[in-house]
Amino acid sequence: MFDGALTEEERLLRDTVRDFATRELAPGAADRDEAEHYERGLFDAMAALGLTGAPFAESIGGGGIGYRAWALVMEELGAADMAMAVSLSVHVLSQAPVVRWGTAEQHARWLAPMLRGERMGAFALTEPGAGSDAAAIRLRATRVGPADAPTGYRLDGTKIWISNSPVAEHYLVFATLDPDTGPSAITAFLVEKGTPGFEFGRKERKLGIRANPASELVFHGAEVPAANRLGDEGEGYRIALSSLGEGRISIAAACTGLARAALEAAARYCSERRAFGGPLTDQQGIRFMLAEMEQRVATARALTRLAAEAKDRGEPIAEASSLAKWTASDAAMSVASDAVQLFGAAGYSRENPVERYLRDAKGAQIYEGTNQIHRLIVAEQLLRRIGQGA
Ligand SMILES: Cc1cc2nc3c(=O)[nH]c(=O)nc-3n(C[C@H](O)[C@H](O)[C@H](O)COP(=O)(O)OP(=O)(O)OC[C@H]3O[C@@H](n4cnc5c(N)ncnc54)[C@H](O)[C@@H]3O)c2cc1C
Repeated sequence: MFDGALTEEERLLRDTVRDFATRELAPGAADRDEAEHYERGLFDAMAALGLTGAPFAESIGGGGIGYRAWALVMEELGAADMAMAVSLSVHVLSQAPVVRWGTAEQHARWLAPMLRGERMGAFALTEPGAGSDAAAIRLRATRVGPADAPTGYRLDGTKIWISNSPVAEHYLVFATLDPDTGPSAITAFLVEKGTPGFEFGRKERKLGIRANPASELVFHGAEVPAANRLGDEGEGYRIALSSLGEGRISIAAACTGLARAALEAAARYCSERRAFGGPLTDQQGIRFMLAEMEQRVATARALTRLAAEAKDRGEPIAEASSLAKWTASDAAMSVASDAVQLFGAAGYSRENPVERYLRDAKGAQIYEGTNQIHRLIVAEQLLRRIGQGA
């Protein structure tokens, strides 16, 4: 595998996570997918390995590995079980805004148990009428107490497609103080499972990553104390966007892993399957397909690493993370599709993993910003760079 120059420490981390993922995640992935079963013990095992807060600074209780190393972790998890990789990615995504915007009290009460993996997080932005157009959210936050010093907020409305729900304990929820005002009224709240008036609605019946549940969050006058507001009133939209870059690097890495797993399965199958007097890999047409699949995996990995390194250097990552996520999720989809093709009818059977890779890959072209939205982001950055505005 072309994997660039890794340090000894990075190699050790990658091999440790690969060993864990191969032993603990991969063997049951098909059964969990079939049963749509979330195995909390696996999340606990990832916590025991120090993965639940790994990319965050040690000074706040994280693992301090940074995003270049985090991409290695996510690639291994994505290769073994995309459903658990997405679960961990969402958990980390839900912490990032608290790391950046949380008060010392919120770090101690909310973040610390999440970094340790004792509590699982979810990131709740999407609504029935607001997906790509996230500024259009309608979930209403109403001040409780004096308008200039509210003691709390009442939440009313519905979120949909929230990964890790209902299993997560901690929900980062974006609401609006005035649905007619746009982004400047959006405010972020930390909401705990069990808050009166906060319930789980319909569970989504998904095509892929079926072992990672996603459901509706329903708020009927759920009251949260003012201490649970993250950032100031009106800062929620900025808070939501501020961490999406990291989340995209994470998903790009997981997609690279998924694509790698699909390619390796196909290469192994074609080496063993015989036709026309020899293994399929004797056919140049097959070798060309395998080589092109490897090209897509290597491109996905390279762009993901570039984005991760930019993040570690503290540079803006909007364009790099969009390019990585868009490229890697497209690579996962096309490599998985080619893998099904190379398995022939066996690839179309649920007895083999490649059909699951195909189903799991599709979602990644939609969540963490659809790949059309990533084209818009890249074009905006490009036009700005050449002085033509956005
Ligand atoms: C498996 C899965 C897990 C998810 N997990 C979460 C989660 O944990 N938390 C959360 O908040 N959300 C989650 N989502 C929701 C996800 O973020 C949204 O589905 C996504 O943002 C797209 O929104 P939408 O589905 O409403 O599509 P829409 O925004 O309605 O878009 C429909 C189509 O139009 C295209 N489109 C929209 N606007 C434009 C434009 N300006 N130019 C060109 N094309 C455009 C889109 O790309 C898409 O193809 C998840 C979704 C999936 C599938």
